[in-house]
Amino acid sequence: MGSDCLFCRIVAGEIPATVVRETDTTLAFRDIDPKAPVHVLVIPKEHYADIATLAQGDPALAADVLATSAAVAEDEGLLGDGFRLMFNTGANGGQEVFHVHAHLLGGAPLGPMLARDLA
Ligand code: AMP
Repeated sequence: MGSDCLFCRIVAGEIPATVVRETDTTLAFRDIDPKAPVHVLVIPKEHYADIATLAQGDPALAADVLATSAAVAEDEGLLGDGFRLMFNTGANGGQEVFHVHAHLLGGAPLGPMLARDLA
């Protein structure tokens, strides 16, 4: 993907980010507009648009994203009280950046899963 993708540019070091963990295949950095005391984004370095494309195209890389998310949760002290791991996907999911990212949220009770009951 490259220069058109914000998160590819973070991977390339062209845009600064507060990186909290890096592996051969993944990068974890703090969200620029945090919605909880801990709000970290975990991405594969390789470009996939969303979690469905990633999971179908490279399940091992999807597993790497989960493993890095768990490691960051441990580093941030979230394993005891819990956390939320979220992949906004597509228009209905409210996805804004089309390079797959897990939102790792924690550090306080996060409230209901959705702001409103849509059922
Ligand atoms: P989503 O709506 O799931 O696509 O989430 C995109 C997330 O990326 C939002 O929570 C933004 O605050 C975050 N974000 C956008 N630009 C940056 C950036 N340069 N560094 C870190 N986080 C960012």
